[in-house]
Amino acid sequence: MKDSEGHLKLGAAAETAEERKGLLWEEGEELYTTEDDIIPPSARSAHRRRCCIASLLIALILAAVLTPALYYGLRTSRPVADFDSQKLRSNGTHMFKKTSLIVSIDGLRASYLDRGLTPHLVAISKKGLRAKSMRPIFPTLTFPNHWALMTGLYAESHGIVGNNFWDPASRSEFHYNRVESCWNSSWWYGEPMWETAERAGLITANLMWPGPPVTRTGSEPTYFLPWRNNVPMKEKHDQIMEWIDLPLEKRPQLIMAYEPSLDQAGHLTGPVSDLVNRVLGEVDQFAKDIHDSLEARNLTDIVDVVFVSDHGMTDTSHPEWLYIDDILGDGFKALEHVDGWPSMGLRFSSKVNSTFYHNVLLEAAAASDGKFDVFTHDTMPRRFHFAGNERIAPIYVVPKVGYALTDRVENGTGMSKGNHGYDNAETSMHAMFVAHGPFSSVIKAIQKSDNSHFFKRFLSRPNKGWHSTSNDTYIMETFQNVEIYNLMIKLLGIESSAAPTNGTKGFWDKYF
Ligand SMILES: [Zn+2]
Repeated sequence: MKDSEGHLKLGAAAETAEERKGLLWEEGEELYTTEDDIIPPSARSAHRRRCCIASLLIALILAAVLTPALYYGLRTSRPVADFDSQKLRSNGTHMFKKTSLIVSIDGLRASYLDRGLTPHLVAISKKGLRAKSMRPIFPTLTFPNHWALMTGLYAESHGIVGNNFWDPASRSEFHYNRVESCWNSSWWYGEPMWETAERAGLITANLMWPGPPVTRTGSEPTYFLPWRNNVPMKEKHDQIMEWIDLPLEKRPQLIMAYEPSLDQAGHLTGPVSDLVNRVLGEVDQFAKDIHDSLEARNLTDIVDVVFVSDHGMTDTSHPEWLYIDDILGDGFKALEHVDGWPSMGLRFSSKVNSTFYHNVLLEAAAASDGKFDVFTHDTMPRRFHFAGNERIAPIYVVPKVGYALTDRVENGTGMSKGNHGYDNAETSMHAMFVAHGPFSSVIKAIQKSDNSHFFKRFLSRPNKGWHSTSNDTYIMETFQNVEIYNLMIKLLGIESSAAPTNGTKGFWDKYF
C-alpha cells in the first residue's frame, strides 16, 4: 500500500492483509501461499501425521533445553552490592572501610542541571545515577528539608515545621538563625543518620549540615564543624579530604557537608540570573574537585558520593501581592503569631472568634480564583503530611507560585527576587539527586543484566521506576526526599540499626 506521495506504508499493508485474510477468506481472494496449497489432498492426511510427530519432537527438545535455562536464568547471579560496614578494602596503599559522603547544595533546583552549566555534575551522574528530580517535603524550606534528609521524616513527624514557628507547648519560638533555638536539641525530633551510624559504631563527621550539634538523646557526630557564612568551597573540599586522609581508626565512614552559596544567589537575583549561573558553575567545580580527589586516591570503588539539594527556587521578582491585612480587616490585629513564609501559619488571640476569621479567609480564597488556599489540620492536603503536630499553626494560608503574602506595612519589602516554600508538587520547588560510587556501578550492572536477560524482559515490566537513555545515563523517576535516610543507611551497611522513618519500606530494593 502506498500513501498519496507514493511511499510504502508497511504497517498499514500488513494490517490490511491480516484483516482481509480474516474477514474476506471465503470470497476466494488467496493472500498467502500455504503448504496445504501445494500438497495434493490425498497426501494431506499422512503429511499431517508426520507434521504432528515432528512438532511434538521439536516441542519436547525445546522444553528439555529451555526449562533449565529458564530456571537457572531467573536465578542468574546478579551483581551483589557489598555493604559490609566493617570489611576492609584496599585502595592500593591503605585500608578503608565502606565510606559514604552526602553533600547538600542548598537551593539547587532540579532543572538547573539542564542548563548546560554543570558539565561535571552531569558527567558524575552519567558514571552513576541521577533522578529526574527529588520532591522536597512541605513546606519547601531549608530547615524542614535538611532535617527530612537527615531523618527520613516529614515535618509533622520531625517537628521542624518551618524556618520559624511558634511552639504552643513550650510557649517559645523556633528561629533558624538564632543559636538558642536552632542549637537547642529539644526542638529536633527523629534520629538523624549520623546518630544511627554512631549507634552502629561508625565514626561520623558533620560539616555545617543544618541541624543541632547534639540530638535529644545526647548523640553527637564524632567531628562537627558549626555553620559559618562565606566559607570557600575549596576549604570545605580540603576539610572533607582531611577526614578521608585520617588513619583508619580515626577516619569517618559517614561525612555530611553543606554548601549554601547557590541558595543565597537564587534569593538575591532570582533563579534565572547571571549570578545563579555563575555560582552554579562554582558548585559544579566543587563537585568535580571532590570527585577528582577521590579518583586520585583510587577511592571511587570504596566511597559513595550522594549530591542532593533541599528544594528548588522560583522567580519572585514581580509576584502578585496578597494583602493579608486587607483580607482579615480587624482580625489582622488579633494575630498573635505568624509562622512560615511565603506561606503563613496563623494563630489568633483566644480573645477573638478564630472560626469567624477562618471563614473570612476561605471566602477570600474562593473569590481569588485560585491565587491561594486556606487549610486547617483537617483540610490540609494529605500529600503534605503536615497536620499531625501542634507546632503547625491551626490555620495555614498557602499562596500559589506567582503570588506572595504581605501586609500594607511591609508591602513586600521582605521579598527577595527568588524564593521557595511553595507547594512541593511544583516542579520549580523540586530538588536534585546525583550519586556516584560503588553502589551506582552495581545498580547499572544489575540494570544491564536484567535488560539483557530475555526471560526477565519477557516476564517483568522493564525499567520499572527508571529508564536508561541512549548515552547510558540512568534517570530515576522523581522520588520523595524522605527516602534518602534509608539509602545512606543501606550504603553504610547498618540497616539493622535503622530508625523508623516515613520512607517507603523496600524503596531501594528494586535498585540493588
Ligand atoms: Zn535551602
